[in-house]
Amino acid sequence: MKPENSKENSRKCICGECPVYSECCREKNELLFCGRTNSICELNQNRMCICGDCPIHFEYNLQGGYYCVNEFKG
Ligand code: SF4
Ligand code: SF4
Repeated sequence: MKPENSKENSRKCICGECPVYSECCREKNELLFCGRTNSICELNQNRMCICGDCPIHFEYNLQGGYYCVNEFKG
């Protein structure tokens, strides 16, 4: 299931601590990619996604990651 796009869920998102997350993402206030859409920024996919450590990932029983790169349809 696609996570709800809510402020509460945005607060729980740990993308801001991820090595893939960039200054561009920060400028665009991008977060909660799994509940919204992928990033409009160019991102380095060779770095490690940390979605697996996120409470949202656990709560919604998500299986994947790199939602900033590939849109999650749910
Ligand atoms: S699962 Fe990933 S994209 Fe979704 S809220 Fe957590 S860190 Fe952000
Ligand atoms: S979706 Fe995954 S790879 Fe992208 S910024 Fe969030 S934690 Fe990092």
